Amino acid sequence: MRLIILGPPGAGKGTQAAKIAESYGIPAISTGDIFRANIKNETELGRQVKDILASGGYVTDEITNAIVRDRLFEDDAERGFLLDGYPRTAAQVDALDAILAEHDHKLEAVLELTVDEDAVVQRLLKRAETEGRDDDTEDVIRERQAIYRRETAPLTEIYAARGLLRRVDGMGTVDEVFGHVASALEGVART
Ligand code: ADP
Repeated sequence: MRLIILGPPGAGKGTQAAKIAESYGIPAISTGDIFRANIKNETELGRQVKDILASGGYVTDEITNAIVRDRLFEDDAERGFLLDGYPRTAAQVDALDAILAEHDHKLEAVLELTVDEDAVVQRLLKRAETEGRDDDTEDVIRERQAIYRRETAPLTEIYAARGLLRRVDGMGTVDEVFGHVASALEGVART
């Protein structure tokens, strides 16, 4: 199964991605996690993207596409995957299409977690207190929502036009939302 999960920062993509990965037996691949791991380990890539993440901006398509391409060539991704946080721009949609074509694979579904923006900002402020992510200050949170609306929300139209988009109500408890996800994935081929 090859899936994408879309939704604004704070929508709970990472949480649902982990549950989907476990339940469908596919790796959840989060570009945000990959970048944060590289920052933590002080790699060359980490050094390049550190300031970008801290500001809430997007890492360049060139860097991001190369990372996802490498990751999708790893063995565990051969039988399926869930992408969380990628694609985020129209250029990344094209790059992903090209990567999938190299593997002779196609996407089965794109999940969009829909949430109320005010609720999401509150969630992120709370997460800032508990996790201390430095991309979680209020200004950065608002900037990230604006960038999402401008750059990433339009991707839903692209995938809707391909008949792949499945909207999922992202408000509610983790288990309630996962229930909605599971219903949205009913009938999607588990290839
Ligand atoms: P969240 O889950 O809060 O939406 P992520 O963990 O997915 O955030 O991403 C954190 C940061 O990593 C983003 O704000 C951005 O700087 C960078 N990033 C992640 N994925 C991408 C991408 N596909 N393109 C560009 N930048 C990205």
